[in-house]
Amino acid sequence: MAQATVRADETNVFPRFLDLAYPSMVRGQGVWLETVGGERILDACSGGAMVACLGHGLSEIAAAAASQAEQLSYFYNHHFTSGPQEQLADRVIELIPEMARVKFATGGSEANETAVRLARTYHVDRGQRDRWRIISPAQAYHGSTLGTLALSGRKRSLQDPYTEYMPAYLHIPPSTQRFDPTGQAALDALDRALKEAGSQTVSAFFCEPVSAAALPGYSPPDRFWSGLAERREKHGFVVVFDEIVTGMGRTGSWLAAHQLPIEPDIVTIGKGLGAGYWPLAAVLCREHVYDALAEGSGEFDLGHTWDGAPLPSAVGLAVLDYIVRHKLVDRVRERGPRLRDQFAAAIKGSDIVGEVRGRGFLLGVSLVDPRDGLSFLPHELDVATMVDDIGFECGLLVSSTHSTPDGFAGDEVLLAPAFTSTDAELEQMVERFGQAIEAVEKAVKKKL
Ligand code: PLP
Repeated sequence: MAQATVRADETNVFPRFLDLAYPSMVRGQGVWLETVGGERILDACSGGAMVACLGHGLSEIAAAAASQAEQLSYFYNHHFTSGPQEQLADRVIELIPEMARVKFATGGSEANETAVRLARTYHVDRGQRDRWRIISPAQAYHGSTLGTLALSGRKRSLQDPYTEYMPAYLHIPPSTQRFDPTGQAALDALDRALKEAGSQTVSAFFCEPVSAAALPGYSPPDRFWSGLAERREKHGFVVVFDEIVTGMGRTGSWLAAHQLPIEPDIVTIGKGLGAGYWPLAAVLCREHVYDALAEGSGEFDLGHTWDGAPLPSAVGLAVLDYIVRHKLVDRVRERGPRLRDQFAAAIKGSDIVGEVRGRGFLLGVSLVDPRDGLSFLPHELDVATMVDDIGFECGLLVSSTHSTPDGFAGDEVLLAPAFTSTDAELEQMVERFGQAIEAVEKAVKKKL
């Protein structure tokens, strides 16, 4: 039998953390993952990165991928287009009709880098070459490439030691309950950033409409979004939404933007578009953005090898067909609020639980110091890792983050089940999560 766990000193793989033993997984079916030892883990986070929105091992999607791979798997989109790419773009625009064009990419970081270049090209093609700066909320995650790392303002937990490579973007603090419940402080910070940068140099405001890993399930108050729209109107920058996680149904609408009082100019989607069956992402833009390039330089050239290739496009098409046919976005919208209440009820009374928040099947739990029920937990305890480890011992996959050093958020737990999870499976997730948090609370109190 293959090894149950693999440590850094036992493998040729360069692991993410060099001091961990990684459990080896062999199979997935629906919301269940199986280790080589036959242990079954209930997946409450769509593979851990909010990707597998249709669950694991769906033969219909695998068959669509196999059939396209046999017919025509790959060519470079510099030379050709194909039925699958054209149909997938049509489908995306059908579902998100306020957008006019779709440019495919392979992953979230690539899509976000492309969105940064698209915003910049939009301004250059309209004769506004001075516009290049980006303003964004500090507590965010937009990817791990050097360009996308610069989009977050998490100097200590993400950017160090790479800050020297990064453009000087400007950041505003998140308008969370803790810092800015009305959203006004964030708007004031945005005004200061616009003044500091010189608003005529600002290309885009770049953000997650509902945050994922960096501040799970959080979205600023409506006041912030309408204030952002007013400032866009006044100052002429574009608004880019990173919907790599939230796109294609995760929050109960095709885009999270559909629930907010603002329409972005450019949107990136990913994760659930390929649903874990093939890496796939895309950049969408509204007509005026496309028109600026069509009437300007007439090109938007740089791209990536796999952009819009037949195989990923066929997978995306099969995924969207499945979501539509099974009315999964409706299911997420209708079931989401009760799921949030169920998770909240299961951990109610725990001294380490702060807020339980989120939309649809993108939920977050913030953890607090039990000594005052308010402060972030001490960084050195690394309670996020404790939650993941104890969760795993309870047979549950959740994903926790730990960005305390930047001061905007403490330890947070992310819950993002597959849209296809049955009621019974969701209830089992809730129950196991309740057990895990109880065990974590005990462990934390012992250490404090
Ligand atoms: N944007 C958001 C909101 C994400 O959560 C992630 C990844 O988790 C990314 C972008 C980056 O995507 P990728 O890892 O595919 O490059």
